[in-house]
Amino acid sequence: MVVKTATECLITLEGVSKAYQHPNGQKISILEPINLELRAGEIVALLGPSGSGKSTLMRMIAGLIPPTAGQVLYRNRPLVGLNPGVAIVFQNFALYPWLTVLENVELGLKAKGELPETRRQKALRMIDIIGLDGFENAYPKELSGGMRQRVGFARALAVEPELLCMDEPFSALDVLTAENLRFELLDLWLEKKIPTKAVLIVTHGIEEAVILADRVVVLGRNPGRIRAELTVTLPHYRDRKTAEFQALVDQVYKILTNPELSCETVTVPAESAAAVSQPQPPQSAKYQSLPQVRTGAIAGLLELLEDRKEKDLYRLGQELMLEVDDILPIVEAAKLMEFLVIQEGDLLLTPVGIQFIAGGIDQRKQIVRTQILSNIRLVQQISRMLQAKRNHRISEELILDILEAHFSPKEAMRQLKTAIDWGRYAELYSYDEPGGEIFLESEDKAE
Ligand code: ADP
Ligand code: MG
Repeated sequence: MVVKTATECLITLEGVSKAYQHPNGQKISILEPINLELRAGEIVALLGPSGSGKSTLMRMIAGLIPPTAGQVLYRNRPLVGLNPGVAIVFQNFALYPWLTVLENVELGLKAKGELPETRRQKALRMIDIIGLDGFENAYPKELSGGMRQRVGFARALAVEPELLCMDEPFSALDVLTAENLRFELLDLWLEKKIPTKAVLIVTHGIEEAVILADRVVVLGRNPGRIRAELTVTLPHYRDRKTAEFQALVDQVYKILTNPELSCETVTVPAESAAAVSQPQPPQSAKYQSLPQVRTGAIAGLLELLEDRKEKDLYRLGQELMLEVDDILPIVEAAKLMEFLVIQEGDLLLTPVGIQFIAGGIDQRKQIVRTQILSNIRLVQQISRMLQAKRNHRISEELILDILEAHFSPKEAMRQLKTAIDWGRYAELYSYDEPGGEIFLESEDKAE
């Protein structure tokens, strides 16, 4: 039995949701009501595919943007304006190029109203702790990416935030630099060299989440929502090669690769140290969302699967040195076309998938045509409209109007581009780019 100790609750999200209003008045839901607590003493990872609302959630916790509904509590009091207990580290470092390292680090302290003398002292101390001494007077452009992000960390930590928020802080760095910095940060935290009480890290990297976090909160998208929460009790520093670590990573992979899966059905292997709790079932009746993937990428993945013995999605990703964000959309697209199924983390080709691989160009096009016509709602809608119109032409605005009822304008455009790309490949319709029109070629009309 898990005994819960009474811990200080720093942040409480009570039914916090976010929606944006489209210029046409329609509301687009970005995040469904979220309930979440961040407690003192823990590192929490917010993990999810891009577009699942991770950054939005973090910004609401920091008080940079208000929720549409629900409330954010800081130390049990409703948050008004900026959260005084939070500092953020951004992915792109967000440094001022015209300020020196020292001046950049002093910024947050200045905003807090610290006197110049204290400001300097605290900044210099943090510069020392973070391994930047000797670079006080350098300008950001003179520094490597890793050193720049150190400035980002020093600036955030100098104000001694109770909650350190990081939005994909390592993803702009090369693998080795990222790994170094990750462990240095962990070291500061574990050795209590920083007074920070809790850490929230936004990431799309499963391993990064499992390496660092005490709790991994998995978000899903369209709309953003919590799909699962896993507690990680493996002791630090964690070894990626152990069976327990791999089991956890597999588990999270399984959740992420099955967007439709209700997490109540995810079972935790007995030997793993994870516990799935608080499942929040996905929304019903939502518009099918297409991953932004070109047909060539799908063919590439299927061919690879046939060529290689490796069927395990996670290990295949590692072998190809692909991040989860790179490979998942391709897998998702192949699944939508019924070319493969995922079973226990393995990618298995279906008979149609095997037929596709064996086919020549024309057969492949024919197969994709059948598959998208029977599985992809947007493709079906476009085809039907084209058949119905006497001149067999429709403007993309029309499709965008339909899509924008379900997606943000940017996402609607991506959905459209994907449907156009797939339909063109399958020779279902053509696209006139400058005119923004989808149309049928004369031979298409005959059918
Ligand atoms: P993540 O960080 O998980 O990639 P974000 O929180 O950045 O996701 O964005 C989630 C969704 O919200 C995306 O579809 C994005 O396009 C949309 N979005 C974010 N900010 C705005 C905004 N100001 N107006 C409209 N849509 C937005
Ligand atoms: Mg983001």
